Amino acid sequence: MAEQGPINIMGAGLSGLAAATILAKAGHEVHVHDIRDDSGARFDGDFQALENWSMDVDFFDQLKQWGFDTSEFKATEFTEVDLIHPDDEITQARSPKVSYRIVERGTSSHTIDQGIKRQALAAGAKIHYKTKVKEEDCQIIACGPKGTSAVAYGEIFHTDHPNHIAFQLNDKLAPGAYSYLIVIDGVGLICTCLWRKQKKSDRFLNETIAWYDKHYPELNRQPIKRVGGKGDFTINANYLQDGRYYVGESGGLQDFMWGFGMRMAIWSGVLAAKDILGECDYDREVRKQLLPYVKTSVANRWLMNRVGDRTFKMMCKSWMKDQKKRNDGLVWIGKLFRPTFFKSFLYRFVNPFMLKKDPKSMGRGVRRMPFRKSLKRDDWEPSDAAMAVKSQWNDVRKSGGKTSFAKDSDQVSLPES
Ligand SMILES: Cc1cc2nc3c(=O)[nH]c(=O)nc-3n(C[C@H](O)[C@H](O)[C@H](O)COP(=O)(O)OP(=O)(O)OC[C@H]3O[C@@H](n4cnc5c(N)ncnc54)[C@H](O)[C@@H]3O)c2cc1C
Repeated sequence: MAEQGPINIMGAGLSGLAAATILAKAGHEVHVHDIRDDSGARFDGDFQALENWSMDVDFFDQLKQWGFDTSEFKATEFTEVDLIHPDDEITQARSPKVSYRIVERGTSSHTIDQGIKRQALAAGAKIHYKTKVKEEDCQIIACGPKGTSAVAYGEIFHTDHPNHIAFQLNDKLAPGAYSYLIVIDGVGLICTCLWRKQKKSDRFLNETIAWYDKHYPELNRQPIKRVGGKGDFTINANYLQDGRYYVGESGGLQDFMWGFGMRMAIWSGVLAAKDILGECDYDREVRKQLLPYVKTSVANRWLMNRVGDRTFKMMCKSWMKDQKKRNDGLVWIGKLFRPTFFKSFLYRFVNPFMLKKDPKSMGRGVRRMPFRKSLKRDDWEPSDAAMAVKSQWNDVRKSGGKTSFAKDSDQVSLPES
């Protein structure tokens, strides 16, 4: 193994650490380089959902099969979610199976980032934080997002509400996307996703929080901090270029429709490591195992970009109708994410118009989904309740409440202060 020389990985996030663990376990000398202080620092306590609906296989079974110990990080399983329709009707989507697991991102010891980091270190990988390396000097590129196609922005708070998840389709509060509420063991997150570029993104978060305060009055929200980040949605012509493997969001292995990228990040890191170990062909396996899902999500995003609350309402109704028929709410959402002949045809038709060439992609043929412009309907005056949320946050901020969003965003998505 030593004869092959050390393997350098750029980025100690989920995809980079997954690759590092497998390679180090196989006896390679592995060095992981990250510009930040620690793995997960990009997220700072954000809750994220590990989806379990897009494929028949349970993601935790996949992780175990790849040799990961899922007890190294905290994951809370859910079989039910409040589905909030755009007209504020709240229904429940549920399944007999685990629909998703909520994990925390960040630098606390129970986060998924730290859980995978511990496994990489135990396997013998060396992680170098606060270091800058050149792309050309690394074999695996796992740096997460580069450009901005969408942003998510949330508030973390103390609450005495029991564990709960709500998912809201609402084009006013979350332009082109969705908002959500997650409560795990006394800590809550209300987040809104903006798939259209807005000048004052905190206007959307304040209004969203005001909405949840009104409809979930028992939340008793005590703000702690504000978090968020950007999503980069790209299609790449090459996943392996000049001996470099592009994994996770760096390789565009992301869900264009709603931004569920963790599963594909870890999966692609594993595939890159297996290629280096001579166990598979990375490019071929990405195209076979992951790309059909990415392309389906491009088609879904194209459709989502063309609709508003009326179609969101129809989607909610159709979801609930299907759940009643099958006694399982997972089937409808699963179908939405799975490749079909129609979605593959739609992808071929729409992707040339939807994606723009990235000239800085070192010959990899990267095409990015641009951050769409705001629409006329995104221009509205905040409600009194949203203004009260804003002033509550300003007080918390003045007494030390932090926003970790600014570090990870471009100018347009900087929150107002
Ligand atoms: C607010 C928000 C909410 C999200 N919610 C969900 C969710 O609920 N479910 C889901 O599945 N996905 C979610 N995602 C997407 C998910 O976070 C990403 O798809 C996933 O983290 C991508 O993993 P990665 O390994 O590619 O990148 P990351 O895990 O982000 O890791 C990239 C690492 O590279 C480092 N880095 C960056 N540039 C350099 C450089 N030049 N040199 C060295 N290191 C560098 C970074 O510091 C970071 O540690 C969300 C994203 C955001 C922003």
